[in-house]
Amino acid sequence: MPASTQQPEQILKTTFGYEQFRAPQREIIDELMAGRNCLVLMPTGGGKSLCYQIPSMLREGVGIIVSPLIALMQDQVDALRELGVRASFLNSSLSPEAQRDVVHALRQGQLDMLYVAPERLNQESTVQLLHSLPIALFAIDEAHCVSQWGHDFRADYLQLSRLQEEFPEVPRIALTATADANTRVEIAQRLGLVDAKHFVSGFDRPNIQYRITQKQNPRQQLLRFLRREHERDAGIVYCLSRKKVDDTAAWLVTQGFDAVPYHAGLSAEQRAHNQQRFLREESVIVVATIAFGMGIDKPDVRFIVHLDLPKSLEAYYQETGRAGRDGEPATAWMVYGLQDVIMLRQMMDGSQGNETFKRVERAKLDAMLGLCEITSCRRHALLHYFGEPGPETCGNCDACLNPVPTWDGTQSSRKALSCVYRTGQRFGVNYLIDVLLGAESDKIFQNNHHVISTYGIGKEHNGNAWRSVFRQLVARGYLSVDHATYGGLHLNEKSRGLLKGEHSIALRIDVQEPSAKPERKTRHKQAIADADKDLWEALRQCRKQFADDNDVAPYVIFHDASLMDMVHYRPLNEAQFLGISGVGQSKLEKYGAAFLEVIRLHEDGSTV
Ligand code: ADP
Ligand code: ZN
Repeated sequence: MPASTQQPEQILKTTFGYEQFRAPQREIIDELMAGRNCLVLMPTGGGKSLCYQIPSMLREGVGIIVSPLIALMQDQVDALRELGVRASFLNSSLSPEAQRDVVHALRQGQLDMLYVAPERLNQESTVQLLHSLPIALFAIDEAHCVSQWGHDFRADYLQLSRLQEEFPEVPRIALTATADANTRVEIAQRLGLVDAKHFVSGFDRPNIQYRITQKQNPRQQLLRFLRREHERDAGIVYCLSRKKVDDTAAWLVTQGFDAVPYHAGLSAEQRAHNQQRFLREESVIVVATIAFGMGIDKPDVRFIVHLDLPKSLEAYYQETGRAGRDGEPATAWMVYGLQDVIMLRQMMDGSQGNETFKRVERAKLDAMLGLCEITSCRRHALLHYFGEPGPETCGNCDACLNPVPTWDGTQSSRKALSCVYRTGQRFGVNYLIDVLLGAESDKIFQNNHHVISTYGIGKEHNGNAWRSVFRQLVARGYLSVDHATYGGLHLNEKSRGLLKGEHSIALRIDVQEPSAKPERKTRHKQAIADADKDLWEALRQCRKQFADDNDVAPYVIFHDASLMDMVHYRPLNEAQFLGISGVGQSKLEKYGAAFLEVIRLHEDGSTV
């Protein structure tokens, strides 16, 4: 492909259908256009792809994009072809004939972009092939895979360091969404980008609304959440055990949802089938263990549910981060309760491994529990944990939207702690609550606990309120859980301070989720009003038809944001249709007529 005289803005508009570059995109493109290297750290959904796609189209030669996500290359290339971009990929999934065709197209200068797996790029034959071609740039996507300390390390990525020696004149750009500073340094060193310009965007995902709520009747809570907020959306529901995954998926189906299970106990075919349905269809819910997610690049995942507590904030952030890659509003919703806290604490203390390892695990769990129990902004706490300073409030988490009331729980906490002490530091929560409430149970009489000083001293609260007190005490480390005695609680250093009256403690008042749907802070979307639901569904139907006909995922035809724009602006002719975000020349030609027809029919229907 010879160098183009077009401006990046023109390509942005005519090919991608967007009006403006986002903050660092234009600057990054300029660097590459000038033949310089870059290291880009941008959160998921920030818009990394355009940074190398546009220079690949403008510079002479083909842009080589290295990606470890072989399963996604087909979709990425499909999406580009829909835009009229000449893209292909080379990986082990292609037949020898198909590979020959790609090489032929490369030699003929017919490609703007080529996606390759790292192991392919490392083959001598590929290197030789590339030496015989003009190369626009090398883009190394998911560049954190080069870091040996990260959890996605790929040995093949290490050899990418040879690119700088073999092709010193070709600009290189490495991209990742992994924020931590050590990983970034390692990427720069290993890929020869120490002197390159670094573009570091914040880690925040403003379109994700974080909500954590007390577990009461989790299935009913989930049902209410889905029906009220995500009736026909795609999402992921995470559970800890395979059995719970299977049960939950089956139950959601009986409730009218299109849910499929995903866990390591299913056959490879079943897993692939369920994953494919999730990617290709619009309203599929995957109920999964943590085995599901790596490399899921579906842009329109609208919600992530956790029915069980993740083990760390790292896991929580990564899992919730799979929502809303398209920048549209998405929800991260979790329920958690006393049993989660006790079980995880127990698991951790009983786990194998040396003391140092356990200490790290425990600290991570504490941070996770801390997030559940805080009464201030969740986003602030999350970002703070990852070392990113930010505003104290975000306006788009449950704590900001519905400030959490607290009460002075010092007296009650002391009663709870002393009840633990008086009963010998070996009983579980239910028994302790019975003692506090003065219950007349055989077990209490047998143990002679009806004569101790804490028997019946807690009648000012009911059982649920006491459960809340105990949960918060365990979560905040005022009580330890014994793994040998089935969840017996005992005191620790921290509890002694509280017991002795050295300090006080404020506890959350657990409230049910407010019944009104919380307001959303949106980046660029207007929510679909009830009156527009019909048009919205008709447009989705039209998109689905094209997706099925072309055997691609619906978002390859149009992203939700584009359909949303159509609902909002009601374009009635081609010129107006071009004004829709995500509509460029190629999509206008392929789909303009059909979608305009849907809108026209709807307008006619609604004016009679
Ligand atoms: P990342 O790779 O950083 O996760 P993508 O490159 O997939 O993000 O972009 C996320 C979404 O934002 C995509 O839907 C993309 O089309 C859209 N996008 C990117 N840049 C722009 C822009 N300048 N204007 C509007 N939408 C954009
Ligand atoms: Zn907030």
